[in-house]
Amino acid sequence: MPQSMQPGDAKAAEIKAVSIGKTFGAFHALKNLSLDIGRGEFLTLLGPSGSGKTTFLMILAGFTAPTTGRLMMDGRDITDVPAEDRSYGMVFQGYALFPHLTVEQNIAFPLKVRGRSSADIKRKVGDMITRVGLGGHEKKLPAKLSGGQQQRVALARALVFEPSVLLLDEPFSALDKNLREMMQQEVKRLHEETGTTFVFVTHDQSEALALSSRVAIFNQGELLQVGKPQDVYERPTNRFVAEFLGEINLLPLEKVEVNGERAAGKFEDRTIIVNQSIALAGKTAVAAVRPEHMFISAAPQASDCNAITCRVEGATYFGASTKYHLRTRSGMSLAVSMPTALASPIAHQSDVWVSWPVHQGFLLPDAG
Ligand code: ATP
Repeated sequence: MPQSMQPGDAKAAEIKAVSIGKTFGAFHALKNLSLDIGRGEFLTLLGPSGSGKTTFLMILAGFTAPTTGRLMMDGRDITDVPAEDRSYGMVFQGYALFPHLTVEQNIAFPLKVRGRSSADIKRKVGDMITRVGLGGHEKKLPAKLSGGQQQRVALARALVFEPSVLLLDEPFSALDKNLREMMQQEVKRLHEETGTTFVFVTHDQSEALALSSRVAIFNQGELLQVGKPQDVYERPTNRFVAEFLGEINLLPLEKVEVNGERAAGKFEDRTIIVNQSIALAGKTAVAAVRPEHMFISAAPQASDCNAITCRVEGATYFGASTKYHLRTRSGMSLAVSMPTALASPIAHQSDVWVSWPVHQGFLLPDAG
């Protein structure tokens, strides 16, 4: 590893957003949003288009002032501190490189404006070029680089002055799938190496789950849930989060009884058990199960599993996995996804059991 930046060296910042609101005329782009971003954390803001992610990032950056609320950094109120004095690193959708400057001049730029010595600049720029794999391209202009290489220059330029926070807004949206995955791994590695606090905006669920230490899910200007990728995916607290993070089967339950950590309710003629309880207004709720947590068998599985009968209506081959389209006895459609290597041929229109371990299902309130 180059010498100038060791893990934990960067003075990673801790940010606290307190009751942030932002209105544009009568429109509420952010509604009373409170969020703590831990020191050195990789936090992703995830949500559909127009949910307020970029507005929140612009408030963090200091480019947009919140209408209400305060922003704290390391215990200091920075709500009114202008962007240039926050000195965060930034990488946006467009690469925004200086077209007339070479790769090394682009990366050197933030150090030059900070008045660093030429020896320091040379060493740090050399470090960053090695770190982002751009050796041999130092003298090229951005126009001579591929999209992935340009984004690497943008990353290097944003990190070279060792900012305490790096803000990234959909940085890979213009890249094709393979390059995008490569750059995701690169960003993850840079985060681990620098120890800087990363705040990343995306509307891509798998990108958010793959990269982040925590994910904050936005919808219509509200923060719906914040948690580790596994927690928000496997234990979403509302239906929007459950559905936004991936395909989900929702089974309406009646006569729900909560007993300690478990809840049980009726779906068709079966009792479904869920290893979780939530506050319910009445006796109905929804059992939610991801398609890849269910499996198809000729007989119901006994040990701590739920099972329902279904008819197979079709299958879609996705290479690594195969998705089965099923219908329950009451006519609800259901999806089950199994690794293709483990899936044995299942005849269309055959009646099968669909089972899932009790701990894989979760309970959602009826509405919402
Ligand atoms: P995307 O993924 O499409 O970038 P987003 O979640 O980042 O979406 P924002 O860009 O934060 O969403 O926008 C949130 C809402 O605020 C949108 O409805 C947008 O039209 C509105 N908005 C953002 N900036 C302004 C502005 N300067 N004036 C008026 N409305 C704005």
